[in-house]
Amino acid sequence: MKLLTIDIETSPQLAHVWGLWQQNVGLSQLLESGEVICFAAKWYGDEQTMFFSKFHHGKKLMVKTAHELLDQADAVIHFNGKRFDIPHLNREFVEAGLTPPSPYSQIDLLQVVKKNFRFPSNKLDYVTKKLGLDHKVQNSGHQLWVKCMAGDYQAWEEMKEYNLQDVVITEQLYDKLLPWISSHPSHGLYEDGEGQYCPNCGSKNLKREGKAYTALSVYQRYSCGDCGKWSRGNKRLDGVDVRGVQ
Ligand SMILES: [Zn+2]
Repeated sequence: MKLLTIDIETSPQLAHVWGLWQQNVGLSQLLESGEVICFAAKWYGDEQTMFFSKFHHGKKLMVKTAHELLDQADAVIHFNGKRFDIPHLNREFVEAGLTPPSPYSQIDLLQVVKKNFRFPSNKLDYVTKKLGLDHKVQNSGHQLWVKCMAGDYQAWEEMKEYNLQDVVITEQLYDKLLPWISSHPSHGLYEDGEGQYCPNCGSKNLKREGKAYTALSVYQRYSCGDCGKWSRGNKRLDGVDVRGVQ
């Protein structure tokens, strides 16, 4: 299975505003809309991280490369990418006259965090720190974006480091959260070999541990000796012929 971790950075919208407090900015006040300015990506299992930016590669090549990577991916790992990264990229694709990349599953780790846990903050930086993973690179805040917009080479070096580190820690978080991910695209579907594979990590190190019960049926239950994911066989071991009605 080809798993791609991806993270984008965008530029802010530029607008005329008449004050600082509680502004409603009309569309006629908008001078420039924000856009994707760079992205970092990494294939799972590859050492190499990739970085493409409008500054280093030009907008056209950056957008085309993001499209090609998504096109090759079976599943994409991101943090809040369902609401942020992927719609932003799709907008760039349609504006560039591209058709959709071939379909891929999305593993949005923000949704995994929200669904399973109650942390005081669901931000990537907080969650990764709390779980003892690497930290986000601290950036110099809004000024960094201003300098990058102005084409400052040093600022872009900082942006690149920041963006790449986000992809690295997002992948670390994926590894950590793997057994908590529900409806992960099943590794077994992508394997040619015989036997059973852990749906989430692809390991064959499955231990028979008890039975899995649904309202009507019972199945063999497994736990993965590598990632800790619980799964069950698809064959009904037993069941009931009569079910309650309301
Ligand atoms: Zn596993």
